[in-house]
Amino acid sequence: MTQTAPAFTGRLVTPADADFDEAVLGRVFNHRRPSRRPDAVLLAQTEDDIVAGVRLAAENGWSVAVRSGGHAWAAWSVRDGGLLIDLGDYRGIDYDEATGIVSATPSTKGGEELSPFLEERGRFFNGGHCPTVGIGGFLLQGGQGWNQRGWGWAAESVVAIDVVTADGELVRADETQNADLYWAARGAGPSFPGIVTRFHLKTRPLFGGLAHTVQAFRPEEFTEVMTWMYDATLRIPTNVEIVVVGMYLPDEDGEPGEPGFIVTGLAFGDDLAHAQASLEIFRENPALPRAIVVKDAAPSSLAEQRVEQIRSNPEEHQYLTDNIWVDGDTAEIVERIRPLFTELPTKKAFTIWMSNLPTRPLPDMAFGLHTGAYVATYCCYEDPAEEDANRAWMSRVLTDAQPVTAGQYLGDSDFTQRQLRFTTDEAYARLQQIMADRDPDGRFVRYLASDPATLNHNHWEL
Ligand SMILES: Cc1cc2nc3c(=O)[nH]c(=O)nc-3n(C[C@H](O)[C@H](O)[C@H](O)COP(=O)(O)OP(=O)(O)OC[C@H]3O[C@@H](n4cnc5c(N)ncnc54)[C@H](O)[C@@H]3O)c2cc1C
Repeated sequence: MTQTAPAFTGRLVTPADADFDEAVLGRVFNHRRPSRRPDAVLLAQTEDDIVAGVRLAAENGWSVAVRSGGHAWAAWSVRDGGLLIDLGDYRGIDYDEATGIVSATPSTKGGEELSPFLEERGRFFNGGHCPTVGIGGFLLQGGQGWNQRGWGWAAESVVAIDVVTADGELVRADETQNADLYWAARGAGPSFPGIVTRFHLKTRPLFGGLAHTVQAFRPEEFTEVMTWMYDATLRIPTNVEIVVVGMYLPDEDGEPGEPGFIVTGLAFGDDLAHAQASLEIFRENPALPRAIVVKDAAPSSLAEQRVEQIRSNPEEHQYLTDNIWVDGDTAEIVERIRPLFTELPTKKAFTIWMSNLPTRPLPDMAFGLHTGAYVATYCCYEDPAEEDANRAWMSRVLTDAQPVTAGQYLGDSDFTQRQLRFTTDEAYARLQQIMADRDPDGRFVRYLASDPATLNHNHWEL
């Protein structure tokens, strides 16, 4: 360090400190840990700490990486060299009843903190499914929250952000001021040229009832069920989140049992009766007589859904994840994605198909690519020796799916492993320009990529 560190309310941790590694990695959800290490970690507690941290980095010629919730699968916040500003101890949520706008710091956990806070006030924000995901990284990359199919990307509800720029200035960005930063913050993901210190979010009235349909099948039913699903999804009302999950079905002890897949509908209704009625079309599933387990429009709650999310994404595990936006002829899609659901490599691995139909046009923001359905696969394991086999499986099934792949979502991606298109060419060019204008010296780290020059291209099309 060339300059004396300013007095932070939080703490600057350097390699000389015994807890340096804990500061670097302790809050990273994925236990498949990188060997990268920054020069220092600032455990920021206040907005002033963040401003001072960016200025200290400038004085030392350091790059700056940021961590909010620590849930980026590829541990994007952990870089070689530079300063990691960790926002985990910088906390706050405020709600304005007059406007229905909630303001929250980026490490706020969407499901565990923001949602209960809003529920008490009769409001809702469609944060990420896993309750511990931080709103920071989630919103910056688009945000596939509850019922994204019907309510849109969570980033569409961002009305303003507060940002520390590369010059160490704190500014507000919205439609009328610093509009370039506001545009970029809704889709740039881990290459935003600034640090967001607060998100100001539009909330919606809390739904009155939640109902859940689950139908479990053996793998041999996949083609028939998915083909029906593609047609049915266009008729199922848009207050229903529709997900198909390839998995080892839980046995009576809740442990992964036989391979199979589940079709699920989660309806957010004005009341329970409305939610239950919204799930009617699932009863038309032609394979229903052969379902192993059926839960039909059962009353549910967000608390129950959160428990299920935590069960599916256990902590202290290693994860390899990847994803695709699929597009094209339905029969070909179903055939090409089938191995992702029916040939899972380990008992804890799972793959989701999430309906995004009918596809809505996107507003003008950096997030610019989605199709009618999202497929993401998660290889979860405890023994590092399993990594190679999982990686080989993922590579094989995703290569087979290339003819129906339009691109990918930043949220479940890892550009050090595979680079795909994630927004339109036009949006990507505009984003590059904003990054160059706002951060000409590259103070803030950019996408962690194996080849930055070929980002936003499907690698097999180059
Ligand atoms: C178990 C689990 C479940 C998930 N479920 C969902 C889901 O339902 N929907 C979905 O869309 N995604 C989901 N994700 C993906 C998740 O949203 C992304 O990984 C997201 O980046 C996590 O945000 P974070 O703040 O927790 O992560 P972090 O690792 O803290 O942040 C990721 C990156 O975002 C950037 N960033 C974060 N905060 C700031 C900031 N304040 N200013 C500037 N840049 C910042 C930085 O580049 C940072 O490295 C899930 C991930 C996990 C592990």
